[in-house]
Amino acid sequence: MIQSVDSIPAFDNKQQYSTIAAEVSEAVLNVLSSGRYIGGPLVEELEQNLAAHTNVSECVACNSGTDALYLALRAYNIGAGDEVITTPFTFVATCETISAVGAKPVFVDIDAATFNLDLQQVAAAITPSTKAIIPVHLFGQPVDMTSLMAIAKANNLLVIEDCAQSTGAMWDKQKVGSIGDIGCFSFYPTKNLGGCGDGGAITINNAEIAQKLRVLKDHGQKSKYHYEEIGVNSRLDSIQAAILLIKLRYLDVWNQQRQKIAARYHELLSKVPGIVTPEELSGGTGVWNQYTIRVKNGRRDLLHHRLKEKGVNTAIYYPRPLHLQPVYQSLGYQPGQLPVAEQACNEVLSLPMFPELSEEQQDRVVYSIKKVMG
Ligand SMILES: *Cc1c(COP(=O)(O)O)cnc(C)c1O
Repeated sequence: MIQSVDSIPAFDNKQQYSTIAAEVSEAVLNVLSSGRYIGGPLVEELEQNLAAHTNVSECVACNSGTDALYLALRAYNIGAGDEVITTPFTFVATCETISAVGAKPVFVDIDAATFNLDLQQVAAAITPSTKAIIPVHLFGQPVDMTSLMAIAKANNLLVIEDCAQSTGAMWDKQKVGSIGDIGCFSFYPTKNLGGCGDGGAITINNAEIAQKLRVLKDHGQKSKYHYEEIGVNSRLDSIQAAILLIKLRYLDVWNQQRQKIAARYHELLSKVPGIVTPEELSGGTGVWNQYTIRVKNGRRDLLHHRLKEKGVNTAIYYPRPLHLQPVYQSLGYQPGQLPVAEQACNEVLSLPMFPELSEEQQDRVVYSIKKVMG
C-alpha cells in the first residue's frame, strides 16, 4: 500500500535517536576504539544505574528480556514437574521460557479493565505443584502487586515480574521489578527503555541468586574454565550498555511524555461511541508502552484497516491468546475457556504511542478514529 509521506507510525525510534544522536554516536565510537566489546565497565555501570533506578541491591544485565525470564526461572531451580501461573494475553516469551526450563505454564484469565492477570483466578489456579507466578505489567500498566504478593506469600510462591513493557512503572510508589522476588526487563528497541539491538536485565534484592544468575548467563562458569551447571551465553554488548546508559538518563522524562499523551488520548476518545479507553488502577503509575483501546461490535479490523488507509498506523497486541496457539495445543485448552483474554484479542487496537508524538499527530489519530466510528 502506498502511504502519504506524513503517515503516522505506531512506533517511531528514529525521532528519539535524532534528539540524542550526538551523545550516542560519541559513546559508540568510544566503545569501538576501546577494544572492549562485551561486558566490561559500561555494562557494570549500567547494572548499577538500573539497580538504583529500580531501587534494588542487584542488577544483572543479559542479552534479552526472554533470557532474563529464562535465567530467573533457572536461578530458582524451576523445572520439570513444576507449574508456573501466568497470563495468556502477553508476548510469547513470558510462557516460552516456562516451557524452556521444562515447567508447565498454567494460564489464567485476565481482568477486562486492565488486561492484566485476574488475581482471583490466580488464587484459584494454585495447586501443590505451583512454584511461581509470572505477572506481566502489560502495556506499561502495573499489576496490583499488593494483592498479588499477599496471594504469593500465603501460598509460599515465588513472584517473577515480567517488566519488559514497564520500565519505570510503579505500584504503590515502588518501582516494578523491586516488588516481587525478581524482576525481568527487556531493552528491545520498542520498549520504554529500548536499545539499538537486543538486551535485557534482571533486578533482585538477593546477592546469592544474583551470583547464580551471573554464573548461568556466562556458560555456567563458576571460576575460569570451571563449570558446575549447564549455562547459556547471555552477555550484554558494551555498545548496548553505552547507549542504554544515555537513554536511562532520559527515561523518566520520556515516560512522563507518554503519560501526557495517554491522558490526552483518554480525554479525546472516552466519549467516542464503540471505543473503550484503557483504565488505570488507582494504586499504579503506568508508563504506557502501549495505549490500547477496545473497539466494540466487531469493528476492530475495519478500524485498523481504515486508519491505515488514512496514514495512521496502529497495531494489534495480541491477535491470538497463548492458550490457543498451536504450540500449546498439548496443554489442552479449548476456545471459550479463558473468555476475557479471547475477547480482548478480538477487540484491542494499540494507537500510535511514543514520547515524541506531537499533539498535531495525535489530533489526526483521533479525528481519523471518529471519522471511521461516527
Ligand atoms: C518484549 C517482551 C519480552 C521479551 O523481551 P525480548 O527482549 O524481546 O526477549 C517478554 N515479555 C514481554 C511482556 C515482552 O513484551
